[in-house]
Amino acid sequence: MEKTIAAIATGNAAGGIGVIRISGENAIEIADQVFNAADGSSLLNLEGYRAKFGNIVSDGRMLDNAVALVFRAPKSYTGENVCELSVHGGLFIVEKTLEAVFKAGAEPAEPGEFTKRAFLNGKMDLTQAESVADLISAQGEMAMQASFNALQGSLSNIINGILEALMDCSANLAAWVDYPDEEIPDLDDKTLGDTIIKAARDLKELLVNYDNGQAMVQGIDTAIVGRPNVGKSTLMNLLAGKDKSIVTNIEGTTRDIVEESVRLGNVVLRLSDTAGLRQSTDIVERIGVERAYAKLDDAMLVLAVFDSNRTLNKQDMKLIEHCKGKKAIAVINKVDLTQRADLDLITSAFEKCIFISAKKADNTKEIEEAIKEVIGVSDFDTSVPILANQRQKVCCTNAMNYCFEAHSCLIAGLTRDAVNVLVDSAVDELLSLTGKKANIEIVNNIFSKFCVGK
Ligand code: GDP
Repeated sequence: MEKTIAAIATGNAAGGIGVIRISGENAIEIADQVFNAADGSSLLNLEGYRAKFGNIVSDGRMLDNAVALVFRAPKSYTGENVCELSVHGGLFIVEKTLEAVFKAGAEPAEPGEFTKRAFLNGKMDLTQAESVADLISAQGEMAMQASFNALQGSLSNIINGILEALMDCSANLAAWVDYPDEEIPDLDDKTLGDTIIKAARDLKELLVNYDNGQAMVQGIDTAIVGRPNVGKSTLMNLLAGKDKSIVTNIEGTTRDIVEESVRLGNVVLRLSDTAGLRQSTDIVERIGVERAYAKLDDAMLVLAVFDSNRTLNKQDMKLIEHCKGKKAIAVINKVDLTQRADLDLITSAFEKCIFISAKKADNTKEIEEAIKEVIGVSDFDTSVPILANQRQKVCCTNAMNYCFEAHSCLIAGLTRDAVNVLVDSAVDELLSLTGKKANIEIVNNIFSKFCVGK
């Protein structure tokens, strides 16, 4: 028998209500030991989806008023018996209630253990379980919608559709290979090939959406780069809405990378304010400049900042050069001052330029629109299923490659045996993706990243 587990389901801060969740075969018995219903009834006789008002008692002492909500297996989040005790949301009272629940026989839940049980009991597949974590950490509208769609099964439905088609092919190929002399209705090569190539293309479409999907869910990894004093830190603070980067007019103040996650409308940016690009004899500053270029190379988006009040120098030219081939926006700053920089040179080198005064005006809407345009997420459709992480991407890529290879083998006239091995490999990858055939270490690793109580 699985042990009955309990944890605080609400956040680690004082709030109106705190919830202790108990799950497992003895969940209701355990809750009944610490909860006295006001009407004198027992939770043991309560049907699922019913609540009772009463008190939490421990060692014969009343601790708090509470509401006990009962779910009966399999109709609960975990698929097991579950009881949720809602008490007043003070940290101390919530912890005392949890302590009472432990004394009554429950054991502490591990991180993500409730969701892991939901997965193991077939309440959701692995992509849905992962979307629970994404939903909790969602920082913007798009991330929230995309994660919720995944939780509703949008990704699982697509993957399961592809799986079904490939498993049909595999069953047919296997029958043909195992019983060559039998009269098995044969799938002709064209139908077989069409099914396999369609699966490959559907998987490819999911992969094409991966980067944009990640940008929406995790935030766009954005580097703010430029020579000293162009206004990088001022821009960072404008976007972040607070004084995170140190803004001074002494060159070289931001010597390393300052990072901040900010929300601009419905887009989340993971901003990095980098050291000003210049020649320096100071070793610490030189390392900062090297890191700034490395960040520029890695980032999904570059905000290349120029000072319209100063003529362009060697560092500006180097930056322009470095941005070639990258998704980059030229942010021409300090337009409140006299123009001295050769703006034509900048505008001809960048696909998108914006003219702002980071110090004075609120230009965030214009910056938001420019970012969406350059990243290509202006009309990002969150109802389209998206792969949520690297693990899903790897499974999907492998499955796609196996499908393309299987198709090539079929066209090249290789034996059906060989084609089947590849189709089966694709099927295995997709079963790992949804968790139907996932290695337990991978499963444990996924849930260890959840918070306790989820
Ligand atoms: P960084 O070295 O590129 O990070 O530049 P800072 O953000 O520290 O700014 C350098 C100086 O330029 C500071 O004195 C800012 O107040 C000033 N500054 C930043 N943006 C503007 C702007 O739009 N107009 C004007 N006039 N000054 C600005």
